[in-house]
Amino acid sequence: MKTTKKTNLFLTALALGMLFSCNNEDNPVVTSENAAIQQPSLLNKECSFVDNNWSSTANLYTSLPNSGSTTGSSLIVSQNSSVASFWGRSAPTFRFVRDLSNSSSTFNAISYSNGKIYFGEAIFKWAYLRDSSNLINVMILAHEYGHQLQYAFGLPSVRENTARPNELEADGFAGYYLRRGYGKSTFASIATGYDAAFAIGDNQTTSPGHHGTPAQRRSAVRLGFLLADPTNSKLSASSFDSNFFYYYSGVLNGTYRQALPESYNREIDSLIRLHADELRRIASGEMSDEEYYNLD
Ligand SMILES: [Zn+2]
Repeated sequence: MKTTKKTNLFLTALALGMLFSCNNEDNPVVTSENAAIQQPSLLNKECSFVDNNWSSTANLYTSLPNSGSTTGSSLIVSQNSSVASFWGRSAPTFRFVRDLSNSSSTFNAISYSNGKIYFGEAIFKWAYLRDSSNLINVMILAHEYGHQLQYAFGLPSVRENTARPNELEADGFAGYYLRRGYGKSTFASIATGYDAAFAIGDNQTTSPGHHGTPAQRRSAVRLGFLLADPTNSKLSASSFDSNFFYYYSGVLNGTYRQALPESYNREIDSLIRLHADELRRIASGEMSDEEYYNLD
């Protein structure tokens, strides 16, 4: 299904230029590539508020230099293999994008339908400054990898006029991975991750690039986390999709169809139903920050 090949941009060009000062350029590990950066195709540009293309002065790198504002890029490179392996697949090509003359232009991460993930240095720094364990960067990567799963398996199974189902499902894949693959057993331990997703949610609900409101992004991460409950068997990407949308339908006012998930599981079902009202209150914004942060 060609029309399923949508691009998915997790994050967008916020005006955060002041965060991005000079850093150490002397690290010999950092190598740039001469190959031109692949720009997103029309199909890859779902976000009207993500600006379009990488800048003409940007370049690709296999790692970032360690400095006060950029540490641990090797973790993200290794996680690129780990998250793919978790879903039973080989790793996509992964590159950082740097622009030494316009550093804030790389506040973005893009997943391409031909098996590449490009991760901007500016968004990496922004996430690192919010959480120096790089949990947010792992979550961004897991979200982008979720788009690789969508490309590979023709997901999401639900379509709307905007990118919302693609983006919320990618958030769900990320929540699933953080618990089940990255070993974060408590919801509180991924707080910085879902807070970052909340921070860049949008309320442009009719824009083609709409990613889901901040509250809906919270509930998507929460649903992914619940589906990853370790007492249940691990889901494949396709069975994750059918479960995700089966349970999400109630959250989004019944706009999604209600086909039984192909991997219907009684234990998962009773667990999610226990949390159905909770999910609805998260997605509607009724739940307070405090209650959300203290969920089990
Ligand atoms: Zn995305």
